[in-house]
Amino acid sequence: MNTSKNQIECSKHGSSETTYVCPHILQSAKDKEPRGFHWHTDDQHDIQAFCDQCWNASDEEWEELRKEGCRLLCLECLKAAATLNEVEMELSDLM
Ligand SMILES: [Zn+2]
Ligand SMILES: [Zn+2]
Repeated sequence: MNTSKNQIECSKHGSSETTYVCPHILQSAKDKEPRGFHWHTDDQHDIQAFCDQCWNASDEEWEELRKEGCRLLCLECLKAAATLNEVEMELSDLM
């Protein structure tokens, strides 16, 4: 069990695990519009998620997107965004 996980204080869900998403996933979480959902975990087992556009971006486009930076989202909000896009998040092996 990794207890050094970053925690985020979500207005809806309270203290929750932090995930890193592109601005469009954040937007989807707010306006409930599906924009695609692709997620993975990085070397630190942090969860990251990207929309179709960001996931399929070329290296050049990706550089632009990186300037905008990743946004922080609570894990529960992320799961809601995944459900919105009809993506099943299997997190059992992460916890
Ligand atoms: Zn995006
Ligand atoms: Zn939340």
